[in-house]
Amino acid sequence: MAEEIKEENAPKGLNFVEQMVYDDLQAGKNGGRLNTRFPPEPNGYLHIGHAKAICMDFGVAEKFGGTCNLRFDDTNPVKEDVEYVDSIREDIHWLGFDWGDREYYASDYFPQLYDLAIRMIKEGKAYVDDQTSEEIAAQKGTPTTAGIESPYRSRSVEENLDLFERMNAGEFDEGARVLRAKIDMASPNMHFRDPIMYRIIKHPHHRTGTKWKVYPMYDFAHGQSDYFEGVTHSICTLEFVVHRPLYEYFVKELADDTYCPRQIEFNRLNLTYTVMSKRKLLQLVKEGLVAGWDDPRMPTISGMRRRGFTPRSIRNFIDRIGYTKYEALNSVSLLEHAVREDLNAVATRVMAVMNPLKVVITNYPEDKVQMVEMENNPEDSTAGTHQMPFTREIYIERDDFMENPPKKFFRLAPGGEVRLKGAYIIKCEDVIKDAEGNIVELHCTYDPDTLSGMPGSMRKVKGTLHWVSADKAVDATARIYDRLFNVENPAAETDKDFRELLNPDSLKVVEGIKVEPFLAENAEPGRPFQFQRIGYFTADKDSKPGLLIFNRTIALKDSWEKTKDK
Ligand code: ATP
Ligand code: MG
Repeated sequence: MAEEIKEENAPKGLNFVEQMVYDDLQAGKNGGRLNTRFPPEPNGYLHIGHAKAICMDFGVAEKFGGTCNLRFDDTNPVKEDVEYVDSIREDIHWLGFDWGDREYYASDYFPQLYDLAIRMIKEGKAYVDDQTSEEIAAQKGTPTTAGIESPYRSRSVEENLDLFERMNAGEFDEGARVLRAKIDMASPNMHFRDPIMYRIIKHPHHRTGTKWKVYPMYDFAHGQSDYFEGVTHSICTLEFVVHRPLYEYFVKELADDTYCPRQIEFNRLNLTYTVMSKRKLLQLVKEGLVAGWDDPRMPTISGMRRRGFTPRSIRNFIDRIGYTKYEALNSVSLLEHAVREDLNAVATRVMAVMNPLKVVITNYPEDKVQMVEMENNPEDSTAGTHQMPFTREIYIERDDFMENPPKKFFRLAPGGEVRLKGAYIIKCEDVIKDAEGNIVELHCTYDPDTLSGMPGSMRKVKGTLHWVSADKAVDATARIYDRLFNVENPAAETDKDFRELLNPDSLKVVEGIKVEPFLAENAEPGRPFQFQRIGYFTADKDSKPGLLIFNRTIALKDSWEKTKDK
């Protein structure tokens, strides 16, 4: 692998992590091997921040011919569940990455980790502390003042071994004792002040059941798990920079010159109008403030999938924001832009009328059904066409008609003409109202010479409207989503409960929309459609024949940008 990458054909435009990996390969470290890992804790569904980590971990391995493991970091049985394991697998595959047969669990290494702990106790490098976590925290000191050594720090090896074994046998209550590394209570790095290696947890584990009563802490588990798995580059986010010396300290208990995993950190993805903390997302789910982890308003991968975002749009967005060493807040508009851009290229164009107004074409035969041809995607010459029925009664959008229009209103008005997209030019002859003066329907005439291909088709009119046949259209419901939070940076509003910052208008349900029959027949969840002039939509998983439900993925234009300009 390393030999194949010559200086002269060194890849261009690498980000700083890729560059470090490349340099290690060039230097022949770890025998020229490259193995990364994506290490989710199965305590929630993956979100778009995880997608950034996934693109890095799998992406760099792909780029340089290495491999990437999927490792479930399942060291806390209290919060973890198989439901999360399954969803994580599905989401990574959906993004377009695969770990082959390299699916691992930190819990697979519990025996080796336990053995290492025993060895460290025997070498005088670890001790059992009988203090509570509060007492231990109170002795930690501050970055500028040394901590206080625990009164249990100089226990004999025999006593430590005996106590640790009895901790694991379940003899003591949770919180009664912990195993700590004996390092340095005066270290300028707070993480070196005798960090906790093991705590007692009596909750059954989703894989190992009740076998273990002691569970390793993140810092004692992660680096060693990397080592046991043969991971060469352990790429994570910036909050782990301060943990790196401890990562190296523990890993050195195992590694040698021929192979040693290396931790590299990049900046997290944070998005405007979004919370990304799994704890808060779980709270939204548990309290029913959203309809589940895959609610289309959630920043989860499953939510974005259900909403109609494509894997490519997410990956393009992540490419564009890039990887740096500085924390940033990325604009959700950039993600939405990437979604629009991809959907514009792939979505099938269809007609749907959100707020229908009936139009009777008085000079069109009553029972005639004429099929007109509609282009599936003007951006894609291979996308083909589909047929749409034209009949005497049609629906147009209520907003596309005005009785007393202002100047420059190019849609339909009394006496005015518009083109029906893909069909004829019609003229408004009469406005029919009910007793209260509400407009109930329009009477129009059509010009039979104006269908595509006919001589009159070149006739110019200012407006073109979308429409559906009143007889042939199918009723459907649209769910219109907006941002889940009202403020740009919910995490910064520390004086408020984040639930107070929710946008009360983040979901609007519009019933009785009218969609063309082709859409009704082809609406599978995940297939993207553009409702012309309205936005991008996909069928929801709750949708079924007779009860069609569409999620609006995104409006055609960024309405938030417009309101900002005002
Ligand atoms: P928590 O620690 O609160 O459980 P987490 O979001 O850190 O949540 P993990 O399951 O530990 O969840 O994350 C798995 C991997 O994803 C880690 O390597 C982590 O650094 C990365 N990751 C998590 N959140 C983000 C984010 N917002 N941007 C980029 N990477 C992230
Ligand atoms: Mg984490």
